[in-house]
Amino acid sequence: MPFQKLYIYIAGLLNDPIAMISSLHDPELGLIVFKTHPRSTRISIRLAKDGLKVTLPSETFYSKALTLIEEHRAKILDHRKKDTSNKHYLIDESHPLKTHTFTVQVIGADRPQLFFHLVGETLTVEYPRQRDVNSPAVQKTIHNGIIYFLRQDAKKVLPQKTSEWSLKSGLKFKSIKIQASTTRWGSCSSVNNINLSLFLLLLPEHLIDYVIVHELCHTVEHNHSERFWAKVGQILPDYKALRNELKHHPISSWV
Ligand SMILES: [Zn+2]
Repeated sequence: MPFQKLYIYIAGLLNDPIAMISSLHDPELGLIVFKTHPRSTRISIRLAKDGLKVTLPSETFYSKALTLIEEHRAKILDHRKKDTSNKHYLIDESHPLKTHTFTVQVIGADRPQLFFHLVGETLTVEYPRQRDVNSPAVQKTIHNGIIYFLRQDAKKVLPQKTSEWSLKSGLKFKSIKIQASTTRWGSCSSVNNINLSLFLLLLPEHLIDYVIVHELCHTVEHNHSERFWAKVGQILPDYKALRNELKHHPISSWV
């Protein structure tokens, strides 16, 4: 029984059974995302940063793809091992994680699969007691699950905050998108579409605000000129300290 249908459990919990049904979580291989592509003639399996990306000609190839993955499991894992960039994450009972909207609590339980449930401001992650919670595979599963919940909250919190700062500052933006960016906290396009990373919810609130104000100021100054920083300074007089503090929170440190 190598596959754990982590996202199906989560999706079921949120009454959104369609949302993630096309992905599976495997404890060793990570997140396996299936996509059908009518024009493809064969099954293709690609290694992704935290799992696999599988393309199928149609859904009828689903079980065939699972068999194929099983056949290549050893090879895929071998490939993974050589990729030393896979970091060793640490979220467990003694290392809780606090986000802007919830605290993650990890506990060992008598269950065969990882299970996530969010009640109030606590996201409880139960993992099978017989497994090593610090193993990269389990940690990765936990991270992916947390990202699922972060995304829900980020979509509520960040547009709300951006609108508030926009009203306060008079800086108007065209649209806002929340993405799982692991390279940039935020960006602002030339037509003032703002993108914010859902990982902002891992920062202290004053830094979330700083990033939002920074991007809003780009709606009038699409550069980092003196005029731009003067604009930021009008809204956040202590922006220099905030900018320095943000440097101590590299976006890549968590993901
Ligand atoms: Zn900027």
